[in-house]
Amino acid sequence: MNPIAILLVGHWFFAAFMQSFFLHRYAAHGYFRMSRFWEKFFYLITALAQGPSFLNARTYALLHRLHHAFSDTKRDPHSPVVYPNFFRMMMRTAAMYDGIARRTIKVKPKFTKNLVRWRLMENLSYSWVYRILAGSLYVFLYLWLVPPGEYHWYLFLPLHWFLGPIQGGIVNYLGHKVGYRNYQNTRDNSRNTVPVDLLIVGELYQNNHHARANLCNFARKKFEWDATYEIIRLLALLRIVRFSEAGARWK
Ligand SMILES: [Zn+2]
Ligand SMILES: [Zn+2]
Repeated sequence: MNPIAILLVGHWFFAAFMQSFFLHRYAAHGYFRMSRFWEKFFYLITALAQGPSFLNARTYALLHRLHHAFSDTKRDPHSPVVYPNFFRMMMRTAAMYDGIARRTIKVKPKFTKNLVRWRLMENLSYSWVYRILAGSLYVFLYLWLVPPGEYHWYLFLPLHWFLGPIQGGIVNYLGHKVGYRNYQNTRDNSRNTVPVDLLIVGELYQNNHHARANLCNFARKKFEWDATYEIIRLLALLRIVRFSEAGARWK
């Protein structure tokens, strides 16, 4: 197999897992706890996985909590029901993310409990110096790994640069537009998008997640499988994380 193809597939799943495990399930919901050491360790790993489009934990959590509170209404940061055009929905998400990050958008205190804070990483996440350095890492990897004469592989470089928003966009769009519903009683249009979820490691069980936001396992039916949850269970067995006895810290 071509080394660039291995890099692409490996990076895709690594970034999808870190977004689901660290940003969504830990920073936004707090389904489990970890020591300060592991928190910093996984924060750094998330930045590494998402590269130049790295989303910081504070802003991600606030944006995501607004999504749960106002799902598929005009106040939702990313609803395909309100914005059927994918690119308009992404523009809206980016504007909301930027406003929250730069504090031009004020968020009510009820959304700000138990945030994961690390100012250095927050500043880094919107520093152009960091973005250019992180983006260059992939340029060097490609220069090293692309076989001589096979220049078409360079077309895949931007995918590495924008993996965080690309994967977030897929979840936000498909997860509220395409698929089936196990729970009819949610006020939004959330869906479970199987089998696309296999590429996004558990995040596309949006209907299950919105209906039972206190559960860390997003799968319900026998044929549904939440890959990220299984890895979290393993991390819990290894005592790297421990599930919160009181359930999610934010739901
Ligand atoms: Zn959530
Ligand atoms: Zn959702």
